Amino acid sequence: MDVQEITIRSALVRSRIPGVEYVINPYLGCGHGCRYCYAVFMTKHSRHHAGAAWGSFVEAKTNIAAILRDELRRKRKTATAMLSSVCDPYQPAERRYKLTRACLEALRDFGWGMEILTRSPLVLRDLDILQSGSRVSVGFSVPTDDDRVRRVTEPNAPPIGSRIATLRRLKEAGIPTWAFIAPMLPMNPERLAELLAPVIDSVMMSGLNYVGRVAGLFRRLGWASALTRGYAREMRERLGRSLDAKMLHAAPPEEG
Ligand code: SF4
Repeated sequence: MDVQEITIRSALVRSRIPGVEYVINPYLGCGHGCRYCYAVFMTKHSRHHAGAAWGSFVEAKTNIAAILRDELRRKRKTATAMLSSVCDPYQPAERRYKLTRACLEALRDFGWGMEILTRSPLVLRDLDILQSGSRVSVGFSVPTDDDRVRRVTEPNAPPIGSRIATLRRLKEAGIPTWAFIAPMLPMNPERLAELLAPVIDSVMMSGLNYVGRVAGLFRRLGWASALTRGYAREMRERLGRSLDAKMLHAAPPEEG
């Protein structure tokens, strides 16, 4: 992994993702190196790694928290920012640089909401900030229940079991949690729903966007059916049915 330090001139970016006001990406590049990653286009924004393989480099934006504080100071109204949209805010480099932590501290200090999307239990390190912030939620990407599939498609990302365990810890600590089931990798949807239902408050789902990136791999492994729209539709329906049923079941009985 080639890690470089860079400086930037802006931190808060207006988001075009529905329901997300701003995004913050403390890193350019992502050490998790997911095979289907939609963010590979970010390599063209790199002065140091143009053309490098996605997952082989990360650039740490070392001044991001100071820039963010300047930007927040100038805003008239508070809003919510999501970390992150084109990198994992708790990828391995975060252990050393603590840039995500510094950004969360800034958001909390200025009364901004914070929404996290990650695959890593490292988020628990920052539980103190999450518990003292306002409008906080933590989402985990959990695109399959099968760790053999995860090892092939997300070779450097934490195992599925550790994501579920982390969601449980967060929920027990009073943090609203959600799952992002995207893309729909080969999975047993009923089993995935069973794992998620007790540890999340809500769920978002989406199909595979960049089929071409994994088509050869999936065909070689006998997973070709997971490349189709029909597969995503079927998984969404089965997950929806199972999650609804489990969540209803998990709700406390009505009084009276
Ligand atoms: S964790 Fe997210 S940003 Fe990082 S490689 Fe995987 S899909 Fe891409």
